[in-house]
Amino acid sequence: MGSENSQLGILFFPFMAPGHIIPMTNMAKLFAARGVKATIVTTPLNVPFVSRTIERIETCGGATAKVDIQTIKFPVEKAGLPEGCENFEFLPSEMLSSFLKALAVLQEPLEQLLHDADCLVADMFYPWATDAAAKFGIPRLVFNGTSFFSITAMESMTQYYSEPFLIPNFPGEIKLTSMQVPSFIREEVETDMTNVLKEAAEAGMRSYGIVVNSFYELEPAYADHYRNVLGKKAWHIGPVSVCNKEGQDKESSVDEHECLKWLNTKKPNSVVYVCFGSMAYFNDSQLMEIAMGLEASGQQFIWVVRKEKNGSGGKEEWLPQGFEKRMEGKGLIIRGWAPQILILDHEAVGGFVTHCGWNSTLEGVTAGVPMVTWPGFADQFFNEKLVTQVLKIGVDVGAERCVDGVDEVGEESIKKEAIEKAVKRIMVGEKADEMRSQAKALGEMARRAVEEEGSSYSDLNSLIGELKSRCP
Ligand code: UDP
Repeated sequence: MGSENSQLGILFFPFMAPGHIIPMTNMAKLFAARGVKATIVTTPLNVPFVSRTIERIETCGGATAKVDIQTIKFPVEKAGLPEGCENFEFLPSEMLSSFLKALAVLQEPLEQLLHDADCLVADMFYPWATDAAAKFGIPRLVFNGTSFFSITAMESMTQYYSEPFLIPNFPGEIKLTSMQVPSFIREEVETDMTNVLKEAAEAGMRSYGIVVNSFYELEPAYADHYRNVLGKKAWHIGPVSVCNKEGQDKESSVDEHECLKWLNTKKPNSVVYVCFGSMAYFNDSQLMEIAMGLEASGQQFIWVVRKEKNGSGGKEEWLPQGFEKRMEGKGLIIRGWAPQILILDHEAVGGFVTHCGWNSTLEGVTAGVPMVTWPGFADQFFNEKLVTQVLKIGVDVGAERCVDGVDEVGEESIKKEAIEKAVKRIMVGEKADEMRSQAKALGEMARRAVEEEGSSYSDLNSLIGELKSRCP
């Protein structure tokens, strides 16, 4: 593409889960806004989600430059998966590893599209994408959806010591326990998951570089460590969720949503937003503890509950008797999908209880709100440490065990007292103001980073410049 009309053509191939599709679509929009022909590649059942994400970005004033979608078939039967299994979000735990392994069948259909591209940005869960790109002589960039802090921490953790231990060869004195480390690092067992991750690490070494949804000022020590000590090529281009043009249509979409109207009636910093991302389903008793903890905290709240089986009017056994009646005007439960960024950005929201998925964490940082950290799996415990120990804009709820499957999230049972205490600490506690002003300062830095001349804006320009210079 670059050679024909001097427009750089980049394919973006996200892992099929909301936490990867959303930031990569945002990323594609950012590239498109700088004149790149950006195309998202996905499978048919994921197209509606990608299209909706594109629409959402546009509604909230994001870059209007066009992003194309190309579909490739996912031969699930060939991969030994049941019909319709095209997204990680809805898979039972026991199928997650086989899903990851099965993704290799996508290499062939993806390659059909590569002869027309100048660069491939592919998710880390497609380790074979490096070789696929190499066949066509184009660079492959890796996207792994987390922070410099987590990437670097995981790479530094080939060994650890007695409990609790400090992450070795790593800036800052960051303490972890072995239970907070994902089992693929902790145990020397071989599974489909560990194999894919090993291949991903190996492919990462041979790839052109990595694009990170973060900004330099947020984690300079870790960005430097990754580049200078681990010797990797990386570009920080985030937060990709920030809408490019301030205001624009934002107000109209604000009014459309019931919960945003509700927030309009509240005082600044008076509501805590509680959401655990797109994957975690808590069991009834954990949800009950959350409800009781929120009520006891005395704080106003918006609480997003993902509870499929009770979603359509079923009996809700996870709420204390009369809870919603008592909480009328004070607390709002959203069953399903919330407009998270619009909620976080609302001035009435003054705190965020998060599972520390990287997108949510960075969205919280960008909105300038202190956080209660409640990690469950993957990189989430590392992100927690960044928030509580490095940035000092949050408190942990006390989660202790990194689980393997999303089905196990919430099994640990965090008690209502711990939830109440943590929520009070970020909303009205002794250190709440200090955390809030530190969070606000980071939020401003995040916005500046993506404005013209900002660190992420400049790094994206230099990446595009470098890719263009490779085209004949
Ligand atoms: N999200 C949202 N509404 C919801 C739940 C999640 O908009 O009700 C978005 C959230 O803003 C974030 C993404 O989904 O961009 C979740 O990604 P994250 O990395 O935080 O967690 P994951 O879902 O991958 O565990």
